[in-house]
Amino acid sequence: MKKILSALFVLSLFITSISFSQSKTAAGKPYLILISFDGFRWDYLNRNITPNLNKMKLEGTSALSLRPAFPSKTFPNHISIITGMYTENHGIISNSFGDYKQNDWYGMSDTSAIRNSKWYLGEAFWETAERQGITTASYFWPGSELHLASRKPTYREQYDHNRPYEERVDGVIDWLKLPIEKRPHFITLYFHDTDSFGHDYGTDSPEVNHAIQRLDGIAGLLFTKLDEIKMRDSVNVIIVSDHGMTNISKERVINIEKMIDGYKCRFNDDGPFMQIEPPKEKLLEVYNIIKKNENHYKVFLKTEMPAYYHYNKNPFIYSIIIVADIGWSLIANTKNDWLNKTKGNHGYDNNNLDMHGIFLAAGPKFKKGYRTGTVWNVDIYPLLCKIFDIYPRSNIDGLLERIGFILEE
Ligand SMILES: [Zn+2]
Repeated sequence: MKKILSALFVLSLFITSISFSQSKTAAGKPYLILISFDGFRWDYLNRNITPNLNKMKLEGTSALSLRPAFPSKTFPNHISIITGMYTENHGIISNSFGDYKQNDWYGMSDTSAIRNSKWYLGEAFWETAERQGITTASYFWPGSELHLASRKPTYREQYDHNRPYEERVDGVIDWLKLPIEKRPHFITLYFHDTDSFGHDYGTDSPEVNHAIQRLDGIAGLLFTKLDEIKMRDSVNVIIVSDHGMTNISKERVINIEKMIDGYKCRFNDDGPFMQIEPPKEKLLEVYNIIKKNENHYKVFLKTEMPAYYHYNKNPFIYSIIIVADIGWSLIANTKNDWLNKTKGNHGYDNNNLDMHGIFLAAGPKFKKGYRTGTVWNVDIYPLLCKIFDIYPRSNIDGLLERIGFILEE
């Protein structure tokens, strides 16, 4: 009997310690909202029209700029942010690309392609987090709608370009009002205004300024609503952009296809950069012609692409890559209507400051009133893993040591 009693006593101690450690863990898990303002260039914050973001800068940590991965385009960079990998490694090497041998294509407007897991070679932060016990949610983010249940957040919204911005904020607040055991701790949120108006009107237009102000207002609205549910002090907020924007002109256009007329090449992408796949036996011939005419662009064989681009280790990247000088546009013979209605563009060399976005972070995890230089978007994934105290994947390109110093000790 004595033995049974003492065994029961030990068992009860054991159960108490389990429930204690569980509640401790649940209470201790941080909250974090990761927001993307598409195409919000780093220096838009210096226009004196962003009171809410400027306040966030003072209260938290801000970087001079956020360096995207190459190419500085939307889908590749949202995936770099969420996986910590360069585009050549996470597989989304452009907004549209494909396997021409199989006639199998990925395109950002192709709903069935963007949900097909096979294109995504990296692990999104929500996958890493969910596996380690963190509930996650996404109010829009490229790559958040995959068909495989194991690869998407617990809660997510299907992308709807016209969904009112206030409704998106309310959706996030509703998730944070869920009972504690159901509540997500990591949430993404996305807004496109600065990108759309930057493309249509150029970076110095009143329309872009209006878009900047609108997004600043949305940030303010989110903070007010976090206040209302008494979570302002416990929620960490990171605001980033996927890339910047630069002005282009119809006077700065180069027709590459015309230059290599008759070679029957495949073309992918245009504007800031272009990929070309000539018939195999003509590769060097085509390359040499483009190289000979090199003016306002740089042309590379995929095998000789400078390492800092991190853009060759992927079978779907074509054999020749051309990167236009900032503000110049590369075109093929067809489908150039966009040139008439586009005043701004991105996709250029990711080290060019015009291509850089913003990085702001505020909340209990971040240093207060701290300013740092340029940070790299591939480093955000290991930063998130550190914040949530979970293991990152080992195959990432991001490095915590390049960004971890922004965290409160
Ligand atoms: Zn974008």
